[in-house]
Amino acid sequence: MSVAYRGRFAPSPTGPLHAGSLVAALASWLDARAHGGTWLVRIEDVDTPRCVPGADELILQQLAACGLVPDEPPVWQSQHGAAYQKALDTLIAQGAAYPCGCSRSDIERALAASGRSKPRHGELVYPGTCRDGLHGKPARAVRCLTAAPDGGDIEIAWYDRRLGAQHQNLTQEVGDFVLRRADGLWSYQLAVVVDDAAQGITHVVRGEDLADNTPRQIHLQRLLGWPTPSYLHTPLVLGPNGEKLSKQNGAQALDLRDPLLALRTSAGALALPDVTAHQTDWLAAMVAAWRDQRGAESTRSTQAT
Ligand code: GLU
Repeated sequence: MSVAYRGRFAPSPTGPLHAGSLVAALASWLDARAHGGTWLVRIEDVDTPRCVPGADELILQQLAACGLVPDEPPVWQSQHGAAYQKALDTLIAQGAAYPCGCSRSDIERALAASGRSKPRHGELVYPGTCRDGLHGKPARAVRCLTAAPDGGDIEIAWYDRRLGAQHQNLTQEVGDFVLRRADGLWSYQLAVVVDDAAQGITHVVRGEDLADNTPRQIHLQRLLGWPTPSYLHTPLVLGPNGEKLSKQNGAQALDLRDPLLALRTSAGALALPDVTAHQTDWLAAMVAAWRDQRGAESTRSTQAT
């Protein structure tokens, strides 16, 4: 059965859109349009210390100036705390999540003692200290268990429409990951999975820097009995220093005086042809070009296997 396409762009309001984030916005919009689907915008404002006041409205204005207008009113993750709590309660009740009392230095000490102190993207693979209880410590974060019911590793094989077949041993490479942080904030992993399911998202199109998060999200979807959307991770835009463009390394906000120029630059990053036309016609031409590029992609969701 084919499911009606629903896609989304999910910016974190940590600053205005820049050339890198517009690539993900444009690609997700093009993919939705090419499939005759619905395109949504979700403001991911759960990491409140990193959010910049007013950045959400600015992002929506920038998208509108580019002709990228969501088909339904945007939603804000900060309003979905009850849904995240419900999902967390479900996971705890089924033994798939547990409170953890470890500080970062507790984790570092336990890892050093077992000779496994190598961090991964600056994150430590949690050694599982609190899996069997808090050992008298007060609860801090809540973690997701990455062990199969028989005690084996969780292996996630999944398919990316651009990158092809992917695989991650979640237990060894990531470990029990945080769902609610010690400061009480919801993790990106939990919020994104709850919202993608609540909004009926069938297709996720986002930057390649997020590809590594996908196995955690698929694991949560499976635990919660929710469908896995199809995934396409777009190429990253590198700055002059060869690093990924991000607000953190000072990427320039898009210049709204010439949205078409910004769009054409983004289309170049997506290997779409350079077409000269007014914005509306240009967008229509890009939908056709995207459809050609994606070839035989059907509207059916490619379920991860
Ligand atoms: N909010 C995330 C970001 O801006 C994107 C989340 C997603 O598309 O899954 O990096």
